[in-house]
Amino acid sequence: MMTLKQEDPAIYDLIQEEADRQEYGIELIASENYTSKAVMEAMGSVLTNKYSEGYIGKRYYGGNQVIDKIEAIAIERCKQLFGCDHVNVQPLSGSPANAAVYFAVLKPGDKVLGLKLDHGGHLSHGHPVNFSGMLYNFVQYEVDKETGRIDMDKVREIALREKPKMILAGFSAYSRNLDWKRFKEIADEVGALTMADISHIAGLIAGKAIESPVPYFDIVTTTTHKTLRGPRSAIIMCKDKMIQKMVKGELKEVSLAKEIDKGVFPGMQGGPHDHITAGKAVAFGEALKPEFQTYAKNIIKNMQAMADELMKRGYKIISDGTDNHLVVIDMTSKNVSGKEAEVALEKVGISTSRSTIPFDPRKPMDPSGLRVGTAAITTRGFDENDSRKVADIMDRTIQNKDNDEALKAIRQEIVDLCKAHPLYK
Ligand SMILES: *Cc1c(COP(=O)(O)O)cnc(C)c1O
Repeated sequence: MMTLKQEDPAIYDLIQEEADRQEYGIELIASENYTSKAVMEAMGSVLTNKYSEGYIGKRYYGGNQVIDKIEAIAIERCKQLFGCDHVNVQPLSGSPANAAVYFAVLKPGDKVLGLKLDHGGHLSHGHPVNFSGMLYNFVQYEVDKETGRIDMDKVREIALREKPKMILAGFSAYSRNLDWKRFKEIADEVGALTMADISHIAGLIAGKAIESPVPYFDIVTTTTHKTLRGPRSAIIMCKDKMIQKMVKGELKEVSLAKEIDKGVFPGMQGGPHDHITAGKAVAFGEALKPEFQTYAKNIIKNMQAMADELMKRGYKIISDGTDNHLVVIDMTSKNVSGKEAEVALEKVGISTSRSTIPFDPRKPMDPSGLRVGTAAITTRGFDENDSRKVADIMDRTIQNKDNDEALKAIRQEIVDLCKAHPLYK
C-alpha cells in the first residue's frame, strides 16, 4: 500500500494499526473471520469503478463484457459449492439480502415465523426496531428454557395456529444444528414457503461439516464473510420452482428465481459491487478446495474443545455444548455480566461480543451472556490444544479482571500465542 502511505498517511497509519490489532489479538467474535490476501486483492481492484445494473447479458450500462464473465464464475462456483438451482450473487450484505427476499415473496403485513432475537435470532428476522418487524407480521418462536434448544413440536404448534406465509430458520447466536427436514415438513403441512438464513454456518455447510438446508428449503440466504471467509457481502439461493403470488389483485404462478432476482434489482438495490462479486468468486473457489473441508471440521472441533474447557471451569454454556462454531456463555455463572467479561477480555487482546441469553433477566444493553466463536482462530491455525489454552486464558482474565499486573502478564501470553500462528505477516 505504498501509494496510500504517500497520499493519505492518516488512513494508512490507521490501517496498519488495525492490522497489528488483528495480528496480535485473539478474535473470538463468532461472526468474524480473516479473508485470504487473494480475496482482498480482488476487492481492492479496478472493478470498483464499474456500474453494471441488471444481470448477465442484460445490463443497463455498456462495457460489461468482463463483469459478465466474473459474475458468471461467481454463480457457477456457488452452485457447485452448495448444489443450489439458482443463485443471485448481487446482494450487498446479509440484511439487504433478507430484505430482497421478503420484498420478492411477501406483501407488507404477511405473517412469517422467525427465531426471537434474544433467543439467538437476527434483527432482520422480525425484531420490532428493524424494517422486518415494522413491515411484516413476524411471529417469533423461542428456545426451550430447560434445554436451550428449539423445540420443533412447539414450532409446529405455532405454525398450525398462525398459518404463516413463510417459515424462517436461522440464527446469529445458537450453538445447535437445526432440523431442516422437520422445518420443511411443518411448512408443507401449513402451505408455507421455507427460508433458511445460514449466515453464520455457511462455511460449515460448504465444508460439509454440518447438514445443508439447500435440498429442503425454497430459499437460502447467507452472508459471505462469516464462517465462509469471503468478502463482506451476501448471496440468495433458491429452488427452480413456481410459486403463487398476487399480481395486481390476481393470484398468479410465477418463477421463484425470477422474483428473487427482481427483488434484488430493481426492487432493493441499484448497481452491484463488482469488486466484491469478484471477491466472492475467489472465496467460493477457495471453499471448493478439499482443505476447506478440513478447515470447517476443525472450526467445530476447536469450539467443542474450548467449550469443554470452559464448562470444566464452571462456566454455564447455553444448551450445554455446541454442534457448530459458536457458544453463548451465561457469564452470571461466574458473577460477572456479559459486558464486564467483554471489557476485561478486550484489555488482554481477546475480542468477544456480549449477548443476551434466552429469558435474560438483565437488560438488552447490559445482558448476561458472552458469545464466542472459533472461525477466525481456526483460520490462523489454532488447534484443539490452543483452543483449550484460550479457554484457560479467558478464565484467568475474568478472575483477575481488576488486577492490572496480572492482565499485563496475560496480554504477553496472548502476543506469544499469536506469534506462534502468524496471520498476514
Ligand atoms: C450476520 C447476519 C445477518 C446480517 O448480515 P449483515 O451483513 O451484517 O447485514 C443476517 N442474518 C444472520 C442470521 C446473521 O447472522
